[in-house]
Amino acid sequence: MAELLVAGSFAFDTIHTPTVNRELILGGSGSHAAFGASFFAPVVAVGVVGEDWRMADSEMFQAHNIDVSNLELRKGGKTMFWEAVYSEDMNQRETLVFEANVMIDFHPVLNDRAKRCPYLFLANNAPSLMMEVIDQCTDAKLIVADTMNFYIENMLDDLKKLLTKVDGLILNDSEAVELTGCDDLFDAGDAIRAMGPRFVIIKKGSHGSLFMGEDGEIVVFPAYPTRKVLEPTGAGDCFAGAFMGYLASQDAATLDDIKRAMLYATVSASLTIEDFSFDALRRSTRDTIDARYQQMKEMLAVK
Ligand code: AMP
Repeated sequence: MAELLVAGSFAFDTIHTPTVNRELILGGSGSHAAFGASFFAPVVAVGVVGEDWRMADSEMFQAHNIDVSNLELRKGGKTMFWEAVYSEDMNQRETLVFEANVMIDFHPVLNDRAKRCPYLFLANNAPSLMMEVIDQCTDAKLIVADTMNFYIENMLDDLKKLLTKVDGLILNDSEAVELTGCDDLFDAGDAIRAMGPRFVIIKKGSHGSLFMGEDGEIVVFPAYPTRKVLEPTGAGDCFAGAFMGYLASQDAATLDDIKRAMLYATVSASLTIEDFSFDALRRSTRDTIDARYQQMKEMLAVK
């Protein structure tokens, strides 16, 4: 079992779905990824929050095997805030407000435990900030990053530099298209690999996920067939966190490990979307995840 560092945003989200509005709930790419990973391996969270941060959220993380000693609490600052509205079918969302707040001038200073983590997941965040994390880590074996439209549109040069430093990139289908200009996802995957990462995982929402690796390796999985989609925020981050958490727990990343990690990622993400914020995940245990994992394994077995 190895430790996983998860750096990302720790935020408050206000979310509007066609039926429910929820204000200032716990969100952030780092929060969702760290929580998703912590079912599998010990997690060291790296990020920054403001004076308005709720200590109960840090306590929830700590109770879930997440070390928060690298989560800087900035006196006088405000936690990142994001507000979004989902479309009627919940497949599209629009960002209404994004306030980076304390993240604007954040420069992480890692403690020894964080520096020595062999597995690194860099959840959605400014690419320059991800580089600052990578530069401090001394024992990294596997570095994987996520990115999103905001950084592709506003920080492309930094993102391209980052891509030369990571082993893997995880992103949405629309982001892969935007980053590469390729409409075909296989072409987009090739183009991303040509930018640096050895492998790429393209998340396709309710259509599952696609892995493309070295030597033409391709793995595809459908999404877990949940019929209860209440609120999808954080599913992508939870997917990536669980993927990396499982690899850290095995301390290995062969193609077989990657396939199992993708299946664990798929079922963990399915739990996130069944309620708001962390409500469904915090009710879940590793047994809940394992039960869905077995169910999917059986579903996919062709005899
Ligand atoms: P996902 O639904 O997996 O794409 O992740 C949504 C989470 O990302 C929300 O909880 C937001 O707080 C967070 N988020 C939204 N925009 C950004 C951004 N520009 N940088 C970092 N995190 C963000």
